[in-house]
Amino acid sequence: MNRIFIQGFPYDEKSSYLRGTRNGPGRIREVLRNGSANSFAEIGIDTDRPEIEDKGDFEISNYFDIEKISSGHLQQDARLLSLGGDHSITYPIVKACHQFYSRFDILHIDAHPDLYHEYGGDPYSHACPFARIMEGGHTARLVQIGIRTFNTHQREQAERLGVESLEMKDFTVGKIPDFENPVYLSIDMDGIDPAYAPGVSHLEPGGLSSRQVIEIIRKINTGIIGADIVEYNPERDVQDITAALAAKLMKEILGKMIEF
Ligand code: MN
Ligand code: MN
Repeated sequence: MNRIFIQGFPYDEKSSYLRGTRNGPGRIREVLRNGSANSFAEIGIDTDRPEIEDKGDFEISNYFDIEKISSGHLQQDARLLSLGGDHSITYPIVKACHQFYSRFDILHIDAHPDLYHEYGGDPYSHACPFARIMEGGHTARLVQIGIRTFNTHQREQAERLGVESLEMKDFTVGKIPDFENPVYLSIDMDGIDPAYAPGVSHLEPGGLSSRQVIEIIRKINTGIIGADIVEYNPERDVQDITAALAAKLMKEILGKMIEF
């Protein structure tokens, strides 16, 4: 069975600048189900189907519980679509995935490379998850899209860790590489331009359009083993614009997961 679990982590303890992403999963679900839109992905797949099961939100007191909860769901033979929360949740989720899928690549959409060795003294800050993933060997390949905030330290980290960063200044959808392994997709909402996604803690102009992100999802040439949507901060949103986009991206990702 092509089972998919949705799991929410209302967790923003590792945000460096503002709190508020803890309210992300709840608000995305509300907008997803408020009756303003139907449940179909653009490719014609209805995401309201029995094999997609929403397991709800999980309150986290210990950061590493995110890995245990994810493993528990993976053991039930389901793929995971996770809702954040800040981007720190991706490291324990990917670590759990690596125990179930021997070889996969990561496609990471973000304004930021999130490759700090540590940030504010915390190696698990939301500024660090992809450094931990690469050091742990939890992915075969990391491709980043939308990055527009490299500093010297993170550029050195990208080089040292073998990260492929398709920076926003050079980006076209045609430059996205083909993958050889199945893909874990991690979408930080701030990768999208603040004009389309104002509800984030770190506004970084010059980003992707909503349509480009949908095209990127469509263009993934292998299967999706798991995905997350993180960093949506309802306190910063305007008329649910960003929640509506996150809900739309959920449907597009689920459609793609079902299709493959
Ligand atoms: Mn991020
Ligand atoms: Mn970011």
